[in-house]
Amino acid sequence: MRITVLGKSPAWQDAGGACSGYLVEAGGRCLLLDCGNGVFAKLRAARDFTDVHAVVISHLHADHFFDLVPYAYALAYSHQARAAGARPLLYAPPGARETFRRVTSAWDAEELIEQSFELREYDPAQELALDPLTLCFHEVPHFIRTHAVQVRADGASFTYGADCGPNTEIVAFARDTDLLMLEATLEQPEEQPPRGHLTPAEAGEHAQLAGARRLVLTHVSSDHDAAWIRAEAERTFGAPVELASEGAVYEL
Ligand SMILES: [Zn+2]
Ligand SMILES: [Zn+2]
Repeated sequence: MRITVLGKSPAWQDAGGACSGYLVEAGGRCLLLDCGNGVFAKLRAARDFTDVHAVVISHLHADHFFDLVPYAYALAYSHQARAAGARPLLYAPPGARETFRRVTSAWDAEELIEQSFELREYDPAQELALDPLTLCFHEVPHFIRTHAVQVRADGASFTYGADCGPNTEIVAFARDTDLLMLEATLEQPEEQPPRGHLTPAEAGEHAQLAGARRLVLTHVSSDHDAAWIRAEAERTFGAPVELASEGAVYEL
């Protein structure tokens, strides 16, 4: 399994960067995990976008799905997509169809996304088989309904925590995973509850409790001090920690 970071920014992208988007590939299957603002351009730079088999969305915050809009236009109108007859599967959380309609109805394009993609609202309790990839979901605490996603292939597992505040769910869900990708959005915990994001030290602690073999931090702004972030997470994880960067590739 190969994971490529297309975008790793939090809700506002870095200069020249993109919000959340990760390619996961194995055995000729290409999956895009989250599609935040800026991701579609990064996808085009990395691959032929008509080769993406499925897109999976962790939650319906703008920085995790907004580039479905240009992606849908490309599928509808580009020569490339029309020639390929591309219509990727789009697995999105329950209620996504209504959210997409509300967003795109602002300019009277209510069915834009469902016409370009084969939209399916996933049941988080069910596994998804995209041979040779198997996906499962687990709800994690965030400001709206949000799902961590685990992808397994060839005996390896990759666990993506999506956006989440401190929780025990991700620790159990990511148990002994080969690579855990956790957000480390905050320099300081939120002052007022509810918690919806992690600090680097909290991410390291969660990964240590899960027994993750490798920890990659993401959803981090370039405004923050990368050396400090890694040091904080390594202190609690007890092993070297990587910070996601656009174009980084992880092989499992
Ligand atoms: Zn986010
Ligand atoms: Zn979010």
